[in-house]
Amino acid sequence: MSSNEAINGSVNPAENLAKIKEKISEALKEAGKPDRSVEIVAVSKKHSVQTIEPALRAGHRIFGENRVQEAMAKWPELRARFSDITLHLIGPLQSNKASDAVAFFDVIETIDRRKIAKAIANEIDRQGKQPRLLVQVNIGEEPQKSGIPPKETDAFIKSCRDEFNLPIEGLMCIPPASDPPAPYFALLKKLCDDNGLNMVSMGMTQDYVIGAQLGATHLRIGSGVFGPRPT
Ligand SMILES: *Cc1c(COP(=O)(O)O)cnc(C)c1O
Repeated sequence: MSSNEAINGSVNPAENLAKIKEKISEALKEAGKPDRSVEIVAVSKKHSVQTIEPALRAGHRIFGENRVQEAMAKWPELRARFSDITLHLIGPLQSNKASDAVAFFDVIETIDRRKIAKAIANEIDRQGKQPRLLVQVNIGEEPQKSGIPPKETDAFIKSCRDEFNLPIEGLMCIPPASDPPAPYFALLKKLCDDNGLNMVSMGMTQDYVIGAQLGATHLRIGSGVFGPRPT
């Protein structure tokens, strides 16, 4: 047994999910916001089928993976055993993986440049399959992060819609690790509102409470659900 299996053996994803939902409710109340349902995308990247399974057995159905190939290795057997699974792609996409991404994922959160928008649009036409689509915004304009800069987001969404006929439904972001996330989350929510988008993917294990308070519809939570990731 590797040390990580030992760690995750004591982690209870079902219990963690229940606690996270409670915390979200409390956080909304604390912020004076009406209680509403916020989807938890349980980020299962790097985790084994054995670690993921208890979450499925407890009824959870929404998961996130950041690599197409890893997801395609792990999820077919789980999809065969549990119905109604929704898989989100939350990692950067290469255009040579566009075909697999459209075929395999229910939601693609990482449309982050024209070339990818075009490749995804071609595959949607070719396969006749329509995953739900979000644009990734480089909300802190960090050189090492992918995503559309905030100032270019309106124009990019418009070109996705007009040139590629892509029904963009939302935005996702990962704020800079070194700053308080609230101003970045508020900006992402504003960009969603300005563009009539109702999927707002923001907030991870460290900051999901703030994400929920500022209007997230989707929280991407990995270690908070499954424990530390294998290295
Ligand atoms: C890994 C990852 C997450 C989850 O991170 P945690 O800190 O483990 O909750 C969320 N979003 C993206 C894009 C990720 O790559």
